[in-house]
Amino acid sequence: MKTPERQTKIIATIGPATESDQMLETLISEGVDVMRLNMAHATHDWIRDISKRIRKIGQKLNREPAILMDVKGPEIRTGYLPSAVHLSRGDLIDLVFSAQPHPPKNGEVWQIEVNYDKLHDHLSPGNNVLLDNGLIPLLVVETSPEKVRCRVLQDAELKSRRHVNLPGIETDLPSITEKDRQDTLVGIECEHDFFALSFTRDADAIDLFKSFLKDHNSPAHVIAKIEDQQGVSNLEEIVAAADGLMIARGDLGIECPFEELPIIQRKSVGICLAKGKPVIVATHLLESMIESPVPTRAEISDVANAINEEADCVMLSGETTTGLYPVECVRMLKRISSRIEKELPPVLSESLRLFRPKAKMLRSAAFLALRMGNTAVLVFTRSGDLAAKLGALRPNGAPLFAFTDIPGLHRRLRLIWGIEPFLMDFSEDPEMTIQDAIKRLKEEGRVETGDQIVTVTNVLADGKVVESIQLREVDA
Ligand code: PEP
Repeated sequence: MKTPERQTKIIATIGPATESDQMLETLISEGVDVMRLNMAHATHDWIRDISKRIRKIGQKLNREPAILMDVKGPEIRTGYLPSAVHLSRGDLIDLVFSAQPHPPKNGEVWQIEVNYDKLHDHLSPGNNVLLDNGLIPLLVVETSPEKVRCRVLQDAELKSRRHVNLPGIETDLPSITEKDRQDTLVGIECEHDFFALSFTRDADAIDLFKSFLKDHNSPAHVIAKIEDQQGVSNLEEIVAAADGLMIARGDLGIECPFEELPIIQRKSVGICLAKGKPVIVATHLLESMIESPVPTRAEISDVANAINEEADCVMLSGETTTGLYPVECVRMLKRISSRIEKELPPVLSESLRLFRPKAKMLRSAAFLALRMGNTAVLVFTRSGDLAAKLGALRPNGAPLFAFTDIPGLHRRLRLIWGIEPFLMDFSEDPEMTIQDAIKRLKEEGRVETGDQIVTVTNVLADGKVVESIQLREVDA
């Protein structure tokens, strides 16, 4: 039996560099598990077209990746400027809800429009505001219902419609905007498998989003993106409410002090492992490869760190949307993960101690597979729960095969560490289902006669619940 080449999953964000049929085919063949579509940039027509093509190519290659729509969530931006504004350190600017930009004269100051009318309610003198993804730091010096007056702390050029971040400040922005709802409806229409909710601040946001999906009969899973201090503070409740977590290090690095990032990452991965929820480490993993065919040494260590921490997935953003070397980035992630995983000890994850008794059966199966060596674990699942928990146990090096008869679930399982999913009809007779699964694995060259497998069966047929573990040999 072949040991898995890698068990860490790969997400690639699709954009101009990767949207052609040929590139999609290459990425899927290279092993991309999940394709991310970012609604910060995409149009509805593009979403419909690309989703259709991803599905078609995945089916042709018999390796369907999941599709994840990343919805923008609430965000504050500056308004339109006819040309870039040069700001010098020490300048004063007014952030106002509605303004025509005009150059300062006669002691006036720049008026910069922002799309949040309650900005003044949440800021006080001494707070920091960051424009343009943190590049332009401002210090609040005065607030009134008409404006927030700030001092510029660094020389900079401000262009149109830049991001505004308010580190450490709680706002009353809605957790889901009207644009998010419209975008999500298109994702539901295209049967997207995951929705990632940007700037998730609490469990209520997840519950609200989940009920929106339920109202529209979508079985998609919801991934919480933690991107600010409020999200970090409410991590436990967010992970409990969501189906998975994305550590969105881009915005986190603006909203939180830099040095907190590795601590937040380690803590978040640990919480997800303990709860059996998939976790994604995102942003800047191979940033320099946007322009260079090789990563920096620090990037290699960053990817290795995410793998050592046992994250389910590593994610590419700019590297695969506009980068010059998208395929090389995927290959690089594969190369690093397969090497680093070989160094992980063949034991179950530390989080094992935290697992509830419910997972006893799975734990025994995973333990058995590791003790026997060269042994695969097969689970049969209709909810995905068994597969998620098996992956969360992190039996390093053991092939993990999950069978389901629920279309769509087979794609969602692609997000989970180590799980190789298969869609297959289940028989009325549980033993027949197991035999069919083994046949399929043999046909696909995953197991051979004489190989050892452990089967974990739960629900095999309507109304018939069987819970058992069996160690067996693959028959001729
Ligand atoms: C991030 O901030 O790291 C992130 C993944 O979100 P986005 O790409 O939507 O900014």
